[in-house]
Amino acid sequence: MTDRLYYHDPFLYDFDAEVREVTESPRPALILDRTAFYPTSGGQVFDTGWIDTEGAKLRVSEVAETEDGRIVHYLDAPVKDMVPGTRIHGLVDADRRRDHMQQHSGQHVLSAAFVRLFNMPTVSFHMADDYCSIDLDAPTLTKEQVESAERFANEIILENRAVDVRFVTRDEAANLGLRKLPPAGTKTEGGAPEPALSLSKGFAGVAKPGRGDILRIIDIRDFDLSACGGTHVRQTGQIGCILLRKMEKVRQGWRVEFVAGQRAVATARRDFTTLTDAAALFSAHIYDVPQQIRKSLDEIKSLRKQREQSQEELAEAQAAALLAGTPETSGRKVVVRSFSDRDLGFIKLLAQKLTRLSQNAVALLATTAPQPSLVFAQSPGQPFDMGALLKQTIAEFGGRGGGSKDMAQGGAPDAAKLSAALSAAAKLVDTACRP
Ligand SMILES: [Zn+2]
Repeated sequence: MTDRLYYHDPFLYDFDAEVREVTESPRPALILDRTAFYPTSGGQVFDTGWIDTEGAKLRVSEVAETEDGRIVHYLDAPVKDMVPGTRIHGLVDADRRRDHMQQHSGQHVLSAAFVRLFNMPTVSFHMADDYCSIDLDAPTLTKEQVESAERFANEIILENRAVDVRFVTRDEAANLGLRKLPPAGTKTEGGAPEPALSLSKGFAGVAKPGRGDILRIIDIRDFDLSACGGTHVRQTGQIGCILLRKMEKVRQGWRVEFVAGQRAVATARRDFTTLTDAAALFSAHIYDVPQQIRKSLDEIKSLRKQREQSQEELAEAQAAALLAGTPETSGRKVVVRSFSDRDLGFIKLLAQKLTRLSQNAVALLATTAPQPSLVFAQSPGQPFDMGALLKQTIAEFGGRGGGSKDMAQGGAPDAAKLSAALSAAAKLVDTACRP
């Protein structure tokens, strides 16, 4: 059982301790008699830092707790000359811990705000590297509710209310009106939906055998009481501020993303930079960006429509010109043409126009850009099989594709072979036409 110094003083960042166990496998790790390092639990992620011994400074890259209440400090290098009994000095990464305390304490305030305003309990809390989230047990959640909860939570932060830690029995806790009482027998906060802690096993010196579980209560003065084993600020003002961001429907309710403290400032700064970059593209003020984007999308839509119409007209005119310039042989016009500046969409359109404008046309078209492609088509009622013709062509020249009797299309692997492929297909049609 490791003595958890952070239970008493979450602002303790350096401490002396004695090594209890040394492990090398599967990863180098130390277990100490006491520690200020917080292990991942209750939604709050682990601390990092350093362990100093005589002549060595070891990096603590992860901290976890075992089933039986020991705290394991994983190191990113093998431990040398370290035996049980060695004295060490631990140093917690204070910036990281402060950030975690701001996020975690912010979560208490925010969860309580949602309960007080809308009776929406928090069912889980998640802390990631750049944002945090709570899941609310609520069938619906509006943008206005999110904004109200954000305003209320920030008022509580500005009021700089005291955040006290108290240890009480489960029976006492039942009468205190906790936001949520953890289920009896909960050993640690880890895995419990709402951060909750029973100290009956995990907290030497405080547990009082025979009187039931001892709970660690986080008391935000006259605002919120909840059982939790995490690290918290001493005054709500130390949270700084809280910024609510994405809201998303999830299976059991609504997920609300948030950031607190310096993280909120960093996030707002990143948002502002992104918006400023977007606004610069439009030479507009940031608040006009949505309107500018809507305008651009409308323009794109209208230009796309105009382009489609122009393509139709161009294909129609080009088809007419091609038909006029193609002599009839054996009662049909075989139009063979390769393009370098038209895409597959256009040559398909051209093939449709050719075979509709004329009742006896065969179109063998190709384009080299952007992808080498082939389109074969015939007027309805013509005797060939374009699908089979294309298959035969790509069997010889490579590529893939297929189609129906009257229309087939495919991609060719090599633009240099397109004209040879077209000639070969034209020859097959010509041969089939001969009596
Ligand atoms: Zn907490």
